[in-house]
Amino acid sequence: MSESDKKRHWNAITTILVTFIACSELSLKICRQCCHCNLVSDLLEYVVKYQKDYHKDKSLSTLTAKSLIILHNCSKAAENKQVYRQLGASEKIAPFLKSKNDDMAATSLFTLSYIIERSKQHLLKAENRVLIYILGIFDACLDDYSQERKGFSTSEIVVGLGNIAINDENKLSLVNNGLVPRLLRMMKRDSPVEQECAINTFTTLTKLKSTRNLIVDKYDAVQILSKHTDSDVEAVRHAAERAMAPIKNTPPRSAAQRKVSTSTSVSSASLNCNYRQLCLRFKKSLDLSDAYFAAEYDMCYCNSCHIERGDELYYSRGLPPKDYGLPIGWCRFAIQVPARVAPLNVFHKWHVAFHGTRPDAVRPILECGDLLMPGDLEMEGRKLAERDGHFNEKSKPVGFDTKQIFLSPSIRYSGSNAYAYPSKFKDDIAKKVYWSKVAFQVWIKPESYNIGPQTIGAKYEIDPRFNNQELEWFTKRRGCIVVSGLLVNLQETY
Ligand SMILES: [Zn+2]
Repeated sequence: MSESDKKRHWNAITTILVTFIACSELSLKICRQCCHCNLVSDLLEYVVKYQKDYHKDKSLSTLTAKSLIILHNCSKAAENKQVYRQLGASEKIAPFLKSKNDDMAATSLFTLSYIIERSKQHLLKAENRVLIYILGIFDACLDDYSQERKGFSTSEIVVGLGNIAINDENKLSLVNNGLVPRLLRMMKRDSPVEQECAINTFTTLTKLKSTRNLIVDKYDAVQILSKHTDSDVEAVRHAAERAMAPIKNTPPRSAAQRKVSTSTSVSSASLNCNYRQLCLRFKKSLDLSDAYFAAEYDMCYCNSCHIERGDELYYSRGLPPKDYGLPIGWCRFAIQVPARVAPLNVFHKWHVAFHGTRPDAVRPILECGDLLMPGDLEMEGRKLAERDGHFNEKSKPVGFDTKQIFLSPSIRYSGSNAYAYPSKFKDDIAKKVYWSKVAFQVWIKPESYNIGPQTIGAKYEIDPRFNNQELEWFTKRRGCIVVSGLLVNLQETY
């Protein structure tokens, strides 16, 4: 090949990679396609092949850097995580954490933080200079220097730093290099999403005793966090309460629980949790047969019970695994599952999701034994219509099918008013009126459903763990869902 042909060849490849970078930045659907069409496995093979020599040649270096950016973008699609793991991507990308090119090392570190298994967290150990470089990008985000953000949004950087901080050595380096004052600064910004992400990363840093002591000795985080425990935004309030617990050594009660407290002392994770008792009284008001329920598996997810149990915020279930968020702020009443869960190996193979509905739909769903979709006739002959605030036959994008069952791995989405339509509940014991919401926790068969963007018109990031492009799961299939819990959420009305 002549020199000019070689040049044209490299230019063509570079152009293709740049196009893939632009597309994968814009659409998680394209990221999923990149996995399906084997682009991800080809790029992994490529970076492994030139791992030792890329720095010796400018063209190789450029192509390796661009390949790593595409691998980074595609790793953000939740569905791709398992494919990356099957391809051994962690081990293939980890050597680039030592790259002298800081951009390359930082990109690789973020990629690993998205895909890494718990057992391989040691691979996340980053060099000090790389962490300092990322903190520089964080500064650019905080100061709003768009050129130096390197394509990262502020919440993306802070969530990424939280993922990187799962490795204990990184925790210590990040604290020593001044991540905490940056987080405290971000907590003071106006955006609730940014506040929540900053607080959650702060909480991750305090999970190690030595970093917790360093932070408590050096910074006064309590003042800012206390302020956020009174936030109007539930997710921020909950995050601040979780952050306060380890540094104050006494778990605070959740705002919802404070509102329903009586003079009796509360052991929040016990059956006596006031919020749980209130939710139980609401459930009784629905007058449902106890035969539907399996009370031994009930679980209160009010923030106090959650903090006391020390659970994570997100878990993975199924084959291939899929993330879901614990339904913080809700109380779960377990439902008797059908015999088919054993032969279908549901608890091992299926995914967890949520389905918001209205209180008067609970009985028909329990009677039917399956979730209902718009257009279905309930047992008593009533036709189920689409919810207000969501697409319906008269108002929907072209091609959108409203006659499906809608679910989400995030209760923040399924529990939004568009799905979990609120209704008033008067409690005679507390002598107060509450907004009540209900949702079902379900198991859903992998690959029986499609994934799409949120459709409730949200102009904000609904759940920092899930991109808005992947928040809605939908299916028309029957038999691929097992209803396992009735979730109740109560908020005092004013
Ligand atoms: Zn509770």
